[in-house]
Amino acid sequence: MEKEYDVIIVGAGLSGLCAAFFLEKYCPALRVVLIDQASRPGGAIRTFRENGYQAEWGPHGFLNNVLESRQILESTGLDREMQTAPLGDFHRFICHHGRLVPLPQSPKMLLSTPLLSPAGKLRLLADLWKKPRIEDQTIGEWAAYRFGRGVLPMVDVAVTGTFAGDLNRLSIDSVMPGVRNLEKEAGSVLRGLKRKKNAGAGDVRTLPAMVNFPGGMERLVEVLGQNREMLLGRSVKELIRGEGGLWRVVTAQGELRAASLIMALPVNPALKLLSVLDKPPVSAIPGARIANVVMAFDSKAQIPRGFGYLAPESEQRFALGAMFSTHMFSGRCPEGQIMIEVLVGGRRHPERLELSDDEIVAMAYADLGQLLTLPTAPVYAKVLRPEGEIPQLEMDHPVLLRWRRQMEAKWEGLHISGFGWDGIGMNDMAKTAARTVEALAAGHGRSDTNAAVRPVYF
Ligand SMILES: Cc1cc2nc3c(=O)[nH]c(=O)nc-3n(C[C@H](O)[C@H](O)[C@H](O)COP(=O)(O)OP(=O)(O)OC[C@H]3O[C@@H](n4cnc5c(N)ncnc54)[C@H](O)[C@@H]3O)c2cc1C
Repeated sequence: MEKEYDVIIVGAGLSGLCAAFFLEKYCPALRVVLIDQASRPGGAIRTFRENGYQAEWGPHGFLNNVLESRQILESTGLDREMQTAPLGDFHRFICHHGRLVPLPQSPKMLLSTPLLSPAGKLRLLADLWKKPRIEDQTIGEWAAYRFGRGVLPMVDVAVTGTFAGDLNRLSIDSVMPGVRNLEKEAGSVLRGLKRKKNAGAGDVRTLPAMVNFPGGMERLVEVLGQNREMLLGRSVKELIRGEGGLWRVVTAQGELRAASLIMALPVNPALKLLSVLDKPPVSAIPGARIANVVMAFDSKAQIPRGFGYLAPESEQRFALGAMFSTHMFSGRCPEGQIMIEVLVGGRRHPERLELSDDEIVAMAYADLGQLLTLPTAPVYAKVLRPEGEIPQLEMDHPVLLRWRRQMEAKWEGLHISGFGWDGIGMNDMAKTAARTVEALAAGHGRSDTNAAVRPVYF
């Protein structure tokens, strides 16, 4: 196999598929191929189905508040079949002193929440006077400095719900670049948010909705993969910058060539391949693995109306939290039952994934039983153990981003996107793919436009 294209996309996960989508939309004349080592496209996106139960190995949905994702939904017609769960209609709960308390989703709710003491609520306003620190900090340090230590459990669950991460390790500059910009420009986060609101520039004016599909997240992959040239089951072994500036992508089955190369891989496999061109400042970044324990209960179970809950580390619980899947999206389990997906492990507790399936189910059930009314054992239980890990944007991440910028400037035609570069959510992948295609079409490197203020939701 030796074939020439205009663009080779390495990785047919969501990042690669979104890049192909935007290339077709904005540069339809280009010959594009996707190449992936797996036998199916979609990467981390994978839907589980068994005996009338439907759950997700990877992402459970994404919010409809990002332009690029909405473009994909509308252009493909997926907006007509999607299921939505509006955040405004569903509480998200936090485990607080062993019981579930709604997470405040408005300033009014924040004033009345039992999650903060009166002094803790007053301390939030100190943000207006705290001089922004220029240097990067962990999210925990940053939040405690600006808003006081009382907010840490709420910040903890926000990063648990997105990164399965550790607020004492994740970098504020990498995870929330948009909020950092606001803070530095306005001298305070609250002042910055107010200015943004007054200017009518917010991404979100009302609370958005979580999106999934009747057939699960795999439907997105199916639609994005339609009518694309894709080479599956081919692991890329080497990248070579050949004569005439063409990129040579080497696999066991042969070689492909193209003027432009989009690396749409998670950070670690990308670093492995790119290190042959230039040594990166770190050889790998940390990742968090989770198990998803799918449990269904009979109608005696009582689950509060809502998305689910998360538990901060200070609560010392077995599960990171749980999604009340049947409340969010219909058709996930047989009629009359309630299905819950419980998350276990994460950056702080990889040892829990060493437990057997039976042990995990028993411990997850015992944990949930203290928070919810679950009078009888689950009628169905399955432990899903996704292969992939969630990249952690920790304190070495900004250095890595500078290195990527230098690589893209030095190596013409090279574009680096994918899981863990500019964020980890599906919306981040769609946004970065659009920016990558813009840069490719314009024949230049990256513009850092991913620093929008993105609300962190689970
Ligand atoms: C457990 C879990 C839960 C998540 N939950 C959510 C959620 O609820 N909401 C949300 O918005 N996001 C969530 N995410 C994140 C979301 O899944 C990612 O944003 C997205 O799937 C990343 O897509 P990607 O294409 O960049 O990477 P991936 O999906 O990892 O795809 C990369 C592809 O590259 C291929 N590949 C790797 N190395 C090579 C090689 N050498 N040669 C050829 N191919 C190669 C792989 O086979 C894979 O197909 C979750 C992720 C995980 C792991």
